[in-house]
Amino acid sequence: MLDVLIIGAGPAGLSLAAGLVQAGVAVQGLSATPVDKPWPNTYGIWVDEMAALGLTDFLKHRWQDCVVYVDQRALDLNREYGLIDNDQLQAAWLAQTEQHKMLWHQAKATQIAHSATGSTVTTDTGQTLTARLVIDASGHHSPFIQRCSGAAVAYQAAYGIVGRFSQPPIGSGQMVLMDYRDDHLANAERAAPPTFLYAMDLGNDVYFVEETSLAHRPAIALDVLEKRLYQRLAQRQVTVTEVHHVERCLFPMNLPLPDLQQPVLGFGGAASLVHPASGYMMGAILRRGPAVVQAVIQALDIAEATPHQLAQAGWQALWSPERLRKNYLYRFGLENLMAWDGPQLQRFFATFFGLKLSHWSSFLADTLSLPELVGAMLVLFSQAPNGIRWDLMRSVFPHYGLLLPTFIPGQLRTHVPD
Ligand SMILES: Cc1cc2nc3c(=O)[nH]c(=O)nc-3n(C[C@H](O)[C@H](O)[C@H](O)COP(=O)(O)OP(=O)(O)OC[C@H]3O[C@@H](n4cnc5c(N)ncnc54)[C@H](O)[C@@H]3O)c2cc1C
Repeated sequence: MLDVLIIGAGPAGLSLAAGLVQAGVAVQGLSATPVDKPWPNTYGIWVDEMAALGLTDFLKHRWQDCVVYVDQRALDLNREYGLIDNDQLQAAWLAQTEQHKMLWHQAKATQIAHSATGSTVTTDTGQTLTARLVIDASGHHSPFIQRCSGAAVAYQAAYGIVGRFSQPPIGSGQMVLMDYRDDHLANAERAAPPTFLYAMDLGNDVYFVEETSLAHRPAIALDVLEKRLYQRLAQRQVTVTEVHHVERCLFPMNLPLPDLQQPVLGFGGAASLVHPASGYMMGAILRRGPAVVQAVIQALDIAEATPHQLAQAGWQALWSPERLRKNYLYRFGLENLMAWDGPQLQRFFATFFGLKLSHWSSFLADTLSLPELVGAMLVLFSQAPNGIRWDLMRSVFPHYGLLLPTFIPGQLRTHVPD
């Protein structure tokens, strides 16, 4: 019998596959699309996060000049941002799986059944594949992962264009993380949920411009974002002259946490790894993958381990109690972000990016311990304008359900009772 079957060959599935085969685990993969089909998304990440992992060779663009426009001013972030070279990263991980002759099946998983000795996946082609452990890396909408609540989910949505423009839409050589200026909107539109421009100079007069809704429940419609993008460009007398690629982005920000006692292990979007306050996930995959690989390898050493026990070992490596508690705190932050109108949101981000770089960067990467995170949030609170502080205090009562598990470990729910 196989040791591990991985469902999905996106960044999450492929990275784990590479880690496991290199350690000698008998792994096969199942991918709904050809395993070498280019990943469709544009992945941005801070360069220091890639540097910490020794992975800067997998960046195809880097920007030193990174800014946010909030609260009527441009703030220099003094931090380098990059775009992941999808082709190179995918090819490197695929080469590792090929080197160990790992087999990928092209089919869609439709069902998973479990016994004491293994899990059997049935595909849409009628094939059955049995492994001691199934790892679901099929993305944010996996039907196989049980989650601890059915709470309504907020989505990040964005509409972006890679192309050429009548004149530069942003400064030459620049990367704009967030431009919340809204002078292109009519008053009625300003009352709607705020959106911002995420943009970068890709060189050779090609730019990527994307109108983004950080998070909203329900998601902001992509045609609204498209219209807003064109309005924003028109306000700056910029027209689109060539469209090379259109990115339509939609993914959940606060997918409920997974049940940590289920017999399938998740990874990536399927495992709710998106940072609930920023929407970033690539750094989490790269940082947390090796620990999951180690935990799975150790658990596989126990010959009689059941799928439940194997999956549990992986889940614990992925979601320690402290990480779960921090996740609730981030979700509390997200609820506040979603409640604010444009001016409030901008005042908040002006304070946030005014924090010490080490604070805001590790807040976004989720690399602080829980006490450090609480400390950073208290500093943020103390430096925020009064209106923001008042809003944060008022939000404690309606969202106490998110704060209780953060501060009272006994309130953490990690399993859905049968
Ligand atoms: C447009 C967009 C832009 C993003 N930009 C960023 C960013 O800049 N930085 C960042 O950190 N994060 C970003 N994210 C968030 C997150 O990192 C991505 O969603 C990421 O692609 C998730 O990786 P994944 O491997 O978990 O899932 P996916 O990339 O969705 O891969 C899942 C794979 O599983 C396959 N699959 C699905 N169901 C089955 C099945 N039943 N059987 C077999 N195979 C199946 C799919 O075909 C797919 O290949 C972005 C998301 C989107 C949508």
